[in-house]
Amino acid sequence: MVITLNKSSQRTELLGPGGSLEMVKAAFCAGADSVYVGAKGWSRRRDKFELSDDDIKKAIDFAHQNNKKLLVAFNTLPSSLELSKGILKIDRFIGWGVDGLIVADVGFINEIRLRLPQIPILLSVGASAINIDEFKFYSEAGVDIITVPCELSLEELRHLKAHSSCGIEILVHANRDFTYLGRCIMSSYFKQYCIKDDAGKNQFMGSPNRGGLCYRVCKSKWIVSGPQRVIPFRRSRRGDLGNHAFFLFEDIPHYLKMGVDSLKIQGREYSIPLIKEIISFYREVMDTCFSGQDPTKNSIFEKRLRKLTHWRDKERNKATATLLNECREA
Ligand code: SF4
Repeated sequence: MVITLNKSSQRTELLGPGGSLEMVKAAFCAGADSVYVGAKGWSRRRDKFELSDDDIKKAIDFAHQNNKKLLVAFNTLPSSLELSKGILKIDRFIGWGVDGLIVADVGFINEIRLRLPQIPILLSVGASAINIDEFKFYSEAGVDIITVPCELSLEELRHLKAHSSCGIEILVHANRDFTYLGRCIMSSYFKQYCIKDDAGKNQFMGSPNRGGLCYRVCKSKWIVSGPQRVIPFRRSRRGDLGNHAFFLFEDIPHYLKMGVDSLKIQGREYSIPLIKEIISFYREVMDTCFSGQDPTKNSIFEKRLRKLTHWRDKERNKATATLLNECREA
């Protein structure tokens, strides 16, 4: 297949994760066009994978010295009392030249847009926007790009692209949750306490939406009770609830041809060598498309992907076991 890309296809960016300042630098060096980091206490990850304000400044400087972009995630849902703290931080990052903000909360989006008409706002996948009416709503609210949940088909994406003025970002490495990301509250049944962090912000421990963590409780072995018609678990009546990590590959040429704005890689919690390898894999896949070739016809890419999948699974399984153990602790 010869892939013909129109002009807008060339604009598709590769967005990598930055779970530390070192990871930010490695991601850029591996070929990411932009990198996202979490503001300490304000993103849907454990605080050790978020960055201090000082490191965010260094990350922005590094990005700009290399003609790249640095985005900061503020994708938890703040209470009224926390909003002003978030705005203070955002003002500071704007002064340092941050290139965009990843946000999930509608009120927060409104507040940011009113104060800062120019800053690009990306809607977090945690907001789970899946249909054209949600796209219209967020577009009117001032969102520039929407990260879509992993469950959407090519046909649905084409429809959204054709009928919305918002840009689209697609997760090429992430996991398909038991439910839509951002709508799962399972971990909050297991960890129900709340702490205040050093900056005075509330962190509800079992709720990634409120500054706490997802403990991947869907990955523990569930015993399914109830009617036999629960088909997926009928044989053993034990199973996980379907949270599977994935790498997208075959569809990349279609995404680029469609002119999606960004391909995003999740994984702030992975090791830096693994993230470097994932980013350089997607960089080469995209560049192959841009040069008019079809990467899916090249068996070397498939071989590399198998190796990456194995490496990723090893790290992910270890992290899941740690999280589940933490969840069981009082
Ligand atoms: S518990 Fe599972 S389904 Fe729920 S947010 Fe965590 S990973 Fe996703």
